Amino acid sequence: MKGLMMERQLLVIDILKHANRNFPNVEIVSETVEGGRHRYTYSDAYRRTAKLSNALQRLGAKTGDRVGTLAWNGYRHFELYYATAGTGTVIHTINPRLFPEQLIYVINHAEDRWLFLETSFVEAAEKLAPHLPTIEGFVILCDREHMPETSLPNAMCYEDLLAIEEEEYSWAELDEKTACGLCYTSGTTGNPKGVLYSNRGVVLHTMASGAPDAIHYSLQDVVMPVVPMFHVNAWGSPHASPMFGAKLVLPGPKMLDGKTLQALINEEGVTISLGVPTIWTALMNYVKENGGDLKPMNRSIIGGSACPPALMKSFRDYGVRVRHAWGMSETTPLGVLNTPKPEFASWPLEEQQRMDEKTGHGFFGIEMKIVDGDDTELPWDGVQFGALKVRGPWVCNDYFKLDGASDAHDADGWFSTGDVATIDEYGFMQITDRTKDVIKSGGEWISSIELENIAVSYPGVAEAASIAMEHTKWGERPLLVVRKSEGVAIDKRALIDFYQGKVANWWIPDAVEFIEEVPHTATGKVSKLKLREHFSNYEWPAGTDPKRE
Ligand code: AMP
Repeated sequence: MKGLMMERQLLVIDILKHANRNFPNVEIVSETVEGGRHRYTYSDAYRRTAKLSNALQRLGAKTGDRVGTLAWNGYRHFELYYATAGTGTVIHTINPRLFPEQLIYVINHAEDRWLFLETSFVEAAEKLAPHLPTIEGFVILCDREHMPETSLPNAMCYEDLLAIEEEEYSWAELDEKTACGLCYTSGTTGNPKGVLYSNRGVVLHTMASGAPDAIHYSLQDVVMPVVPMFHVNAWGSPHASPMFGAKLVLPGPKMLDGKTLQALINEEGVTISLGVPTIWTALMNYVKENGGDLKPMNRSIIGGSACPPALMKSFRDYGVRVRHAWGMSETTPLGVLNTPKPEFASWPLEEQQRMDEKTGHGFFGIEMKIVDGDDTELPWDGVQFGALKVRGPWVCNDYFKLDGASDAHDADGWFSTGDVATIDEYGFMQITDRTKDVIKSGGEWISSIELENIAVSYPGVAEAASIAMEHTKWGERPLLVVRKSEGVAIDKRALIDFYQGKVANWWIPDAVEFIEEVPHTATGKVSKLKLREHFSNYEWPAGTDPKRE
């Protein structure tokens, strides 16, 4: 027997309709490429989204068409999120940090029909344009006054497009499975793969992310995503803020500028921020050097790579609680999030902090398990490492145009994340490595993330990565690669000794090497592939004695 409930479709455009109705005066504040801070309300955004939907229709956009964006976190990008979803087209958010050949690959693979781009990317786009046969027009995200001279074919001014349109649009009642977004993951090998989000997946993800033991968005909050809107929908915050009525603060091109971030936090009253550890390290360094505080902020959602305990401590010193989170492009992205269980409250502070440092616990919608090499599920004992698999309604089922060719999914619908993790008896998962990055010494795994977290708590270590180096006796041993803070001297032996008592003796790195710059991927993660290439002819220092007990 079927229940007698309405079958209303879960649609992204309904989030903005809801905000327009219920929170019309709540603001979206954006730092702009043109300079200065722009502010308007959800109701303004709604009306301009209707205009943009009309403009897309006038351009000839049809359901399923891909609309590329090369844009920062700003109000026009926000409008593009909703106008594409509302018109059944698909926003393809492109990472401007990709190499030119990767940009050409993703735009051609997606078969984008238009590219909406910031004025600051026009010059780069001019070089790419001859290689982009599917692009019919370039829409520059500015008004007439800021429209640059450009050789881009069919270049249009965004504000001109909107100016002639009506403020009303009758959005169709789409099927909730309709695609609404496309984001390419830049894997370390092979071509980037496209993750195609659906209206249903995004809406469910947004609802789940608002729960108190997830991100807990509320009417009282001011949300600042410092994770880019070109990467996994800025972790869903441009959807969650209007759904839950929170004010949205978008830092535009100033994502790495500690001064602007601190000013935005204090002047706009930011209570929640979201971003990867490197961004926050830059902010915390700025605040420590220049003084001031982060008073309004009470929590910072940190993920994308492991948040070092030292960074959590810096935040704590400013009254900000870090909520560690894990996710992937393929999981829209929220997968787990760290909030304490009630029983931890009576534990010693150190123990509580140790739990805070774990990656997080599950929340409804994402199932997870860890498996061994034979795909047998491993116990949740906090000790055994296994390959992490997930499944759920906002986990990708396949990659765009790969038609099942990827081997990431098994017969029961579990997705192999490529991460290695432990899960403890409280259900707290901890990522220890990427499968490709584990260090296997004498047949047993060493967590490179744990070694890195310890290194960055050592004075003068600005950034650290541990990689597996071939070793005649143990197969592989950990080498610690360190970028020092400017003008600091570090004694390698003392740094190695610093590990004593913090990890098993046989985990302790055998050697330390200094490097001027740690290579990063386009999404800001340490590129271990490039590091391993850099050290491909590495010779262990004479007398290096593996410390296995
Ligand atoms: P992306 O698809 O580019 O967002 O990258 C997803 C990957 O980032 C995951 O598979 C993990 O390897 C890594 N990652 C995300 N969050 C965390 C975290 N909290 N700790 C460690 N690694 C993380």
